[in-house]
Amino acid sequence: MIDKNQFRGHEQLAYFHDKESGLKAFIAVHDTSLGPAAGGCRMWPYDNEMDALNDALRLSRGMSYKNAMAGLPLGGGKAVIIGNSKTDKTDALFKALGRCIDSLGGAYITAEDVGMTEQDMMMIATETDYVAGLPQGDHASGDPSPFTAKGIYNGIKAAVKYKLDKDSLEGLTVAVQGVGHVGQYLCGHLHKDGVKLLVSDIVQENLDYAVEHFGATVVATDEILSVKADVLSPCALGAILNDDTIAHLKVPIIAGGANNQLASDSHGIRLMDKDILFAPDYVINAGGIINVSGETTGDYDVNWVNEKVENIYHTLIHIFERANQEGRPTNIVADEMAEEIIASAKSA
Ligand code: NAD
Repeated sequence: MIDKNQFRGHEQLAYFHDKESGLKAFIAVHDTSLGPAAGGCRMWPYDNEMDALNDALRLSRGMSYKNAMAGLPLGGGKAVIIGNSKTDKTDALFKALGRCIDSLGGAYITAEDVGMTEQDMMMIATETDYVAGLPQGDHASGDPSPFTAKGIYNGIKAAVKYKLDKDSLEGLTVAVQGVGHVGQYLCGHLHKDGVKLLVSDIVQENLDYAVEHFGATVVATDEILSVKADVLSPCALGAILNDDTIAHLKVPIIAGGANNQLASDSHGIRLMDKDILFAPDYVINAGGIINVSGETTGDYDVNWVNEKVENIYHTLIHIFERANQEGRPTNIVADEMAEEIIASAKSA
């Protein structure tokens, strides 16, 4: 029943159906060697249950790698709810999900992902303690986007240092695809450093904000991936680095926050062959989960979070160096480094 390629080393896969609320959800726990499996909950109108299951398996493995590379005491997991986040949300549904998460006894800790909000997390938290991403407070961290953006900004600096041998971003051009939560905060950092910004989005309001506050130049959505710039920073959609788009890229660096930017692992090889430095997405966009991790200890410390977010710079430099020495793509090297961290925790 399960695509074997997706089911790689997972410890647990649970399917929940609550008849009264209509909840249908999968929770995948990929690996808990480093700590409880943490990863957001996604609500999406999947066409069928197999699509939802495969997404849970794929995303939970990604979370194991992301948490390992960020140096967090967390394993990888993911919850997916089959449903439309605009029309299907009810308190009963989230309470039911809270009971499902609680029944796993702490093996999985949830937080926001696509389609979920802080308010939804609060409703889930009425039934279980295994929730992060709650509104800001003594033990909670609030919106993760500023931390994600800061990590991407540090990652762009690392890539620019490594590839262009520059210590400053001043005068460079960065093309940002998607100026939503993460993209806007990122533009703020880059603008302060004197970067020329090219931005694209499908929401006019977001473009207006970037033009007004960061002096950005708007580029059409079908042109942003082929503009000439020093850095392309994808901050909108996944799978945008594919057979069609890679041929048209005119940048030496790709460093952005969107999850799963490569359509497949082999597209990392295509980028390497084109001499484009790719910052693996789950490494550079870990700021949000680092912040969430700060919450899971029950004693939120913003200094600890900031230190880990700063460290994204060094982790990326390490990946770039190893990839260069071994003549292999950065995405594959990052996966291997994550697997090594998990394997050593397992054997310990
Ligand atoms: P968001 O929805 O706030 O922003 C995404 C933006 O992309 C929106 O403004 C949207 O209009 C725009 N967009 C959609 N389709 C587009 C297209 N074809 N061309 C150009 N723009 C388009 O989401 P976000 O929270 O800013 O997250 C952005 C990306 O980063 C996502 O892939 C997300 O999974 C990833 N990410 C986010 C966080 C976080 O802390 N928010 C953490 C890790 C990864």
